[in-house]
Amino acid sequence: MNAKKIDHIGIAVKNLDETLKFYQDILGLECAGTEIVEEQKVKVAFLPIGDSEIELLESTEEDGPIAKFIKKKGEGIQHIAYRVDNIDKAIEQMKEKGIRMIDEKPRYGAGGAKIAFCHPKSTGGVLVELSEREE
Ligand code: ZN
Repeated sequence: MNAKKIDHIGIAVKNLDETLKFYQDILGLECAGTEIVEEQKVKVAFLPIGDSEIELLESTEEDGPIAKFIKKKGEGIQHIAYRVDNIDKAIEQMKEKGIRMIDEKPRYGAGGAKIAFCHPKSTGGVLVELSEREE
């Protein structure tokens, strides 16, 4: 497989509105929208930059994955997402090469992407997301 580019960087934050101030007022990025992904118990804000995106992630529930992440590690970079052409193929190839997948099948990701996470144990400690979506 060939990862095409960094699709986005996912950053776990406690308070989306508070953190947005830094990205908008200081860095000068624009928020292209927000979305609640129920399944992940998360509210996502999209901030495109160049050919990529910053995604700020705020948990909507106390037991959501982002809330758990912050409890354990504090706020900060939670995952890096790579764009792939064909997610089914990418998952298949990962498995063939012995990479441990958190998602064995693609699932819905923010912005209408098809995504799958690879386990940090197989990637040098980084939660890696594979993401397929229309340009
Ligand atoms: Zn992501």
